[in-house]
Amino acid sequence: MNIYPELLERLIEYFKKLPGIGERTAERYALSLIKLDKEELKDFAHSIDEIETTLRNCDVCGHLTDQKICKICEDSARNQKLICVVEDYKSIFMFEKTGKFNGVYHVLGGLISPIDGINPDDLNISKLITRCKDLKKAEVIIALRPTIEGDTTTLYLKKILSNENITITRLSYGIPMGAELDYLDILTLERALYDRKEVA
Ligand SMILES: [Zn+2]
Repeated sequence: MNIYPELLERLIEYFKKLPGIGERTAERYALSLIKLDKEELKDFAHSIDEIETTLRNCDVCGHLTDQKICKICEDSARNQKLICVVEDYKSIFMFEKTGKFNGVYHVLGGLISPIDGINPDDLNISKLITRCKDLKKAEVIIALRPTIEGDTTTLYLKKILSNENITITRLSYGIPMGAELDYLDILTLERALYDRKEVA
């Protein structure tokens, strides 16, 4: 038996879809929404609506943005010849939290994994090649998870980018095997970036 009005039940079900949120927390969130003032509630609803209508991928790097080109790619103070290649946008937020990276990014949108049917063509790689061709003497830092898929992708990128006039490095191996970059603490990530090595 549903004890809440249907609308509240619906909100509770949506909150439960979010990571780490169980029944009780979802109930608390749904009930708290009622207490927001009218304007806040409208703005909250509008923001959710905009996820679908406004958020998109940057034309240059593939990062999440609400513009054609993201703030990082547009920032002339950043080193456009230092490209950090990441699996997804979550890693960018991690790197940005360190505050120590002044280059730009390239989001692959996944890792090569033949078992899962993910091939190089399924990833945002051709745009990376184009970017590298346009730059002279750039450095590409490959910052992927130290897993079989991460390593396969790193070696593939090394191979296809080796014709371009660029240095290819990867994060140092201080990162625990199999670790998700977004769960690393900021200091570990900073060190991995600082100690980066050229891909052999
Ligand atoms: Zn961008």
